[in-house]
Amino acid sequence: MNKYQIETNCIRGGYTPGNGEPRQIPIIQSTTFKYDTSEDMAKLFDLEASGYFYTRLQNPTNDYAAAKICALEGGTAAMLTSSGQAATFYSVFNIASAGDHVVCSSCVYGGTYNLFAVTMKRMGIDFTFISPECSDKEFEAAFRDNTKAVFGETIANPALTVLDIERFANMAHKHGVPLIIDNTFATPINCRPFEFGADIVTHSTTKYMDGHSAGVGGCIVDSGKFDWTKYPDKYPGLCTPDDSYHGITYTERFGIEGAYITKATAQLMRDLGSIQSPHNAYILNLGLESLHVRVKRHCENAQAVAEFLSTHPNVESVRYCGLKGDKYYDLAQKYLPNGSCGVISFDLKGTREDAEKFMKNLRLAIIATHVADAQTCVLHPASSTHRQMTDEELANAGISPKMIRLSCGIENSADIIADLKQALEA
Ligand SMILES: *Cc1c(COP(=O)(O)O)cnc(C)c1O
Repeated sequence: MNKYQIETNCIRGGYTPGNGEPRQIPIIQSTTFKYDTSEDMAKLFDLEASGYFYTRLQNPTNDYAAAKICALEGGTAAMLTSSGQAATFYSVFNIASAGDHVVCSSCVYGGTYNLFAVTMKRMGIDFTFISPECSDKEFEAAFRDNTKAVFGETIANPALTVLDIERFANMAHKHGVPLIIDNTFATPINCRPFEFGADIVTHSTTKYMDGHSAGVGGCIVDSGKFDWTKYPDKYPGLCTPDDSYHGITYTERFGIEGAYITKATAQLMRDLGSIQSPHNAYILNLGLESLHVRVKRHCENAQAVAEFLSTHPNVESVRYCGLKGDKYYDLAQKYLPNGSCGVISFDLKGTREDAEKFMKNLRLAIIATHVADAQTCVLHPASSTHRQMTDEELANAGISPKMIRLSCGIENSADIIADLKQALEA
């Protein structure tokens, strides 16, 4: 499969039909799989044979789409989850439990921040958030004896900061822990974090991978490169027998290439059940077939729109790492040489009321909390997602009352620009 280029893998990866079989991946809309003897089924329960028995753990349709994403990222194993949130949760919870600690970039998705700082903290896992631009000394000081992972986002949603993945990977490895990267905004088309030393990649497939606002979903991919067996005391769940699975030791049975994803499937999916529905996996796979074409167009449109906005007299500032002069331009040249993503943020001149008026005057761009859709979506955080905050609280969160978040779709860029222009000048 990996003999092909990434564009070909978008279409051909993960599923190769045999003679007379369907061109498109079959939707196996079945909870259950039938066996001739209990012995056959026992082998599956003991993980001695591979096969399907219950869709709460695994389903063939999901596995086709997961195998495609695995090929795109250049990993060794992958699984789908019901949402990006579930992928983020499993990726950490698979190797950290009560009493453990994780180092996380402070520039991450708000849902990730809440999950880590509030919900997983209540489960007894501690997180230290560090600025991605902190000094090496501050970075080093964040690690503890019980640190199990480092977490960051390639392009942060919505801060649009670009992570120095190599630096984070080196620091994680120096302290004997893996680097987990949320690669949702960049997608493997624009950045493959494994090539820069990351060990695990997560996705909200809800965004560009699906691309049409059709299905919520997530994915976890393992590079197969992190050697858990070097730290058996730190990762007992992977390196010592699992009593809840008949004494299997995941690293022994599945090697370092397969241990992490097998454990997440066998334990976390079994017990927590955040599986993606096969129907959503089918829709996701359709989205993946055009991912390379759409992402390129999203980025071209965003670049044109960012350049237009940065010269408009009613715009105060524009944040987009493809703009020369953007704080993250140099990092983007290294990690995202072919483009970053379709999301831009900008501050209008004037007041909060001017921003509200601007939103009202838009005709093409739709007002939605979503990003990464084929349609251009726009959001005024101060009057929607962050409306309970005062101007002062907004400032502390790094959001101006005049900030607009714009997710450029794949319409003709001249139409997007014309819509913005008329709303800016109305
Ligand atoms: C949306 C998003 C998530 C959460 O994904 P859901 O599919 O909405 O659960 C996680 N990380 C990033 C970067 C996101 O944009």
